Amino acid sequence: MDDSFTLETLLLHADADDDAEPGIAPPIHASVPFSAATAEEFAELSAEPRHERFYRRYGNPTQARLERLIAEAEGAEAALATASGMGAVSTTLLTLLSAGDHVVAQHSMYGGTLGFLRDVAPRLGIEVTFVDQADTPAFARALRPNTRLVMLETPSNPLLRVTDLRAVAELARERGILTMADNTVATPVNQRPLECGVDLVMHSVTKSLSGHSDVLAGVLAGSRELIERIWQTHILVGAVVSPYDAWLALRGLRTLVMRVERQNAGALALARFLQSHPGVAAVNHPGLPEHPQHELAARQMRGFGGLLSFEPHGGREAAERLLSALRLVRRSPSLGGYRTLAVRPAAMWAIELTDEQLTEAGVPPALIRVAVGLENPDDLVADFERALAAAGSA
Ligand SMILES: *Cc1c(COP(=O)(O)O)cnc(C)c1O
Repeated sequence: MDDSFTLETLLLHADADDDAEPGIAPPIHASVPFSAATAEEFAELSAEPRHERFYRRYGNPTQARLERLIAEAEGAEAALATASGMGAVSTTLLTLLSAGDHVVAQHSMYGGTLGFLRDVAPRLGIEVTFVDQADTPAFARALRPNTRLVMLETPSNPLLRVTDLRAVAELARERGILTMADNTVATPVNQRPLECGVDLVMHSVTKSLSGHSDVLAGVLAGSRELIERIWQTHILVGAVVSPYDAWLALRGLRTLVMRVERQNAGALALARFLQSHPGVAAVNHPGLPEHPQHELAARQMRGFGGLLSFEPHGGREAAERLLSALRLVRRSPSLGGYRTLAVRPAAMWAIELTDEQLTEAGVPPALIRVAVGLENPDDLVADFERALAAAGSA
């Protein structure tokens, strides 16, 4: 669509060409097989590059509509929606990598992505080198002649470290190596990795893009050629988004900009409050001038996102007391939804990561991660102020 429109307008109108019915809201296409009236029409259905009306594992019109909007949001030629964020990650790695290949990834990435790289990749004969994302030259040092992919995630979770997308994309591109960025935490409202030279963007649509904690979906966005290549594996892996989830995600996307702007404001207000509180030992949020990479974040992001983490004084017990004393905030592992959620990452990842791995990832036991929702920032700050006092951290 006309790219002189702002993102909030594009997200309302970019799929208008798909309107086959007079309804303002889009339909949900549930059918698995599609039919053709003639032999010629059937030949056309099965010759389309992405088979949007053939058999639902290959694609469907509701999914295609979601893909169109997300491609617009990321400034991409094409997108592919999947059953989950992990469906997007796994399908991409199975497409781009073969035995004997090498990947460079960050120490700090989503737990499921790390799980694939640590447990599945080695069984397929794929080697992985993990680097500190804040150390750009470390990416260059890790590259080998057989490196095929550099995997990025910024800001990372739960420490909110920032990767220099432009610098890393450039050093990979010079060597003909693909880069992929998980943009779930930032969202395209705050950061557009493709504009920084990254080849492929991935999202857990489960989080901010759908925004209401009731959808499980993922997406990939990039060049048409790359997305079609991944689609060839996708139809074999079968991590296909349900039309109902695609439809809900589409509905959520209409308000993405307003939601993310509110979350940006809420997280910054809460981070500033916590930073000034005597019961708090440390706060991590890229919007704080005290964040060691604040300048880099300000250069590559338009807003700083709804995620922050902090460490109350008093160790893990104080942190758990604080979580229990919050009234508005539920103990829950997700982010990007309408309600504010908080979790102690060391407790959440105990199932996937050993204590050693947690220490290696630099996650203190008392660290609390907060995924800010759409509450009025004043209400949120008041809830934390009261809970800090109740937990004895004040
Ligand atoms: C949740 C999440 C994922 C995985 O997404 P699912 O939709 O749960 O499979 C990947 N990356 C990040 C940053 C996430 O927050």
